[in-house]
Amino acid sequence: MGLKLFNTLSRSVQDFTPLHPGQNPVGFYCCGPTVYDFAHIGNWRTFVLGDLVRRTLELKGCSITHVMNITDVDDKIIRRVRETRTSLCEFTARFEAAFFEDLKTLNCRMPHHTPRATEHIPEIVALIEKLLARGVAYRSADGSVYFSIEHYQATGRRYGQLLKLKFDEMRPGQRVQSDEYAKESVADFALWKARAPEDGEVFWPSPFGEGRPGWHVECSAMSMKILGPSFDLHLGGEDLVFPHHEDEIAQSEGATGQPFVKHWLHGAHLLVEGRKMSKSLGNFFTLRDLLARGFTGREVRYLLLTAHYRETFNFTLDGLLGARAALGRIDECLGKLREIATSPKSKPQSPRPDTSTLQRFNDALDDDLNISAAWGVVFGWVREMNRRLADHSLAPDEAADALAAWEKMDSVLGVGAKTEAEAPAEILALLEARQAARKARDFKRADEIRDELKAKGWAIEDTPKGPKLKKI
Ligand code: AMP
Ligand code: ZN
Repeated sequence: MGLKLFNTLSRSVQDFTPLHPGQNPVGFYCCGPTVYDFAHIGNWRTFVLGDLVRRTLELKGCSITHVMNITDVDDKIIRRVRETRTSLCEFTARFEAAFFEDLKTLNCRMPHHTPRATEHIPEIVALIEKLLARGVAYRSADGSVYFSIEHYQATGRRYGQLLKLKFDEMRPGQRVQSDEYAKESVADFALWKARAPEDGEVFWPSPFGEGRPGWHVECSAMSMKILGPSFDLHLGGEDLVFPHHEDEIAQSEGATGQPFVKHWLHGAHLLVEGRKMSKSLGNFFTLRDLLARGFTGREVRYLLLTAHYRETFNFTLDGLLGARAALGRIDECLGKLREIATSPKSKPQSPRPDTSTLQRFNDALDDDLNISAAWGVVFGWVREMNRRLADHSLAPDEAADALAAWEKMDSVLGVGAKTEAEAPAEILALLEARQAARKARDFKRADEIRDELKAKGWAIEDTPKGPKLKKI
């Protein structure tokens, strides 16, 4: 299909070829959020990358099944449930709802499946039973179940497919209970954690005794349930390569004996003002924090989509102002194109998007999602359109064709065109009040409202088609 992506399995850029071309949809699994807090801007970099991949495949006409799990039970969640004295459901429901709201704010297409870990306990238990039956898992004295890396390797499979691991530093039988253990240690990891007093009411019955699943096993169980034992594409942030994804491979291949995922895609991390985000440094932002500072979802999305996914991205508030200016250039151009395309002189006919611009845009994305080159095509196109608009050489049907090309490009970029609806209700109400004052020929009041809007950061542009709101 022309698309090339870096595959962490081979550590090289490869042609992305579906497992079942022309038959099944491409199976695409993204590790989703752990719903113990609002997702931060780093998490959003990875989720927006997932959306970019999906939209790129869809632009190519590829049918796709997009799965994103919701981790609604893990060590961190249980700690917070205990601290806040709520129930697991009550606690996670709030952050899950916020996650989906944020996903919409960033204009990400909704995954087709968003399975919750707590609703897949039977599938998880069945997978663990399979691993026990195959001798690659074992029960410990306290009722927990662990995955045995040594026994798995003895079956001829490799642990360390995504990352070269130092096995001489490994002590067989060394075990970890924690979901997030040191990246350096190769250790048997918990598939099932026996119920402990500090877990409170968070436990499920199982053939191994009461307890709860480990983090890694949920992704194996849910991805294979929906997408089958082998599927096309699996994505996450680079911190998930080891141990999470390595463990997913071991659990899945250990149970089915089949290759788990054909193509592994990992996004580099996001820093804020050059440093790892941390609440104590004051550089920790959720999407909501940025909206509260007056930025919009499309500005954040644009900025997150400016850097190549394999490069560490330095997020700054100045960068967001730059995003606003860049989007302003696109909006202005689109506004003028729309005016020409819908002018009384235009003859109705179906627009034909400019194929050479689209070809260059596609080629950029095909090159391992070279987003900077893709934006280069967009801004080259904006410059060319502005030149033609300035010398009045654009006919209405050409403007319509240009807009059709933009729509195609924006089906991947998802930054849309700025609409008046983006203004908050309070601003829209003021605009209406100004219109009413003008109608009543109360120009003093109309001017006062204009000033009030200006103070709130909105300008009114009077056009032949009525007033337009513009963010200052
Ligand atoms: P979590 O909710 O912690 O499981 O993380 C959800 C996703 O966000 C995972 O794919 C992580 O790899 C990713 N992630 C976490 N921190 C960052 C960061 N600073 N930059 C980019 N992605 C991140
Ligand atoms: Zn996962």
